[in-house]
Amino acid sequence: MDKTKAHCNTCGGDRNHGIAHCEKASWSDDEYGVHGDDTYEMLKCLGCETITLRHTSWVSAEDDVRISYFPQSIFRPKPKWLDALWLELSPTDLFVYELLGEIYVALHNDLKSLAAMGVRSLIEKVMISKTGDKGTFAKNLAEFENLGFVSTKQKERIEAILDAGHATIHRDFKPALSDVITLVDMAEHIVETVYLHESKITALKKRVPPRQLKT
Ligand SMILES: [Zn+2]
Repeated sequence: MDKTKAHCNTCGGDRNHGIAHCEKASWSDDEYGVHGDDTYEMLKCLGCETITLRHTSWVSAEDDVRISYFPQSIFRPKPKWLDALWLELSPTDLFVYELLGEIYVALHNDLKSLAAMGVRSLIEKVMISKTGDKGTFAKNLAEFENLGFVSTKQKERIEAILDAGHATIHRDFKPALSDVITLVDMAEHIVETVYLHESKITALKKRVPPRQLKT
């Protein structure tokens, strides 16, 4: 069996795979003078034996090949607290879980601009849900800091996120995968701090018996 390097969701990265089966189809479009081919490979990870289908598409008019996997590649595992988050959120805050889910779908499908816009939208909605809408991003963010949800340092990072999201929407900025991963990291950190740490602290306060005043 021939071998190739390919992404394995189970192992979490590029691994050696055996090519169990391969089909190739070529096409050409005489009117536009382009041609290309599609290669479909059934791959088996030589580490964990997971089976994946890889589609490699090449078009003569483009420099790069396009590669997609079925099931979709997961380049970044979801946080372990995601299920706990769903249980912790009130019905009015469920948008946090839903939007995060959509951001992961965009990320796993290499839709980097959509993922960046999603992060911006998520952070804005989180801020507004906690501070009420103060009219502008800057005012919402200042109030978010005032109420102690973020430190000054974190506020600066959020400003950078909002600007990247804004640039993606309005200034034709195309974020790299590493940019988007940084944005998603930050978004996860904020969600965890705002919704999970808060509830853990509340639960802790309930468990700790109050101090007895000495008489
Ligand atoms: Zn594997």
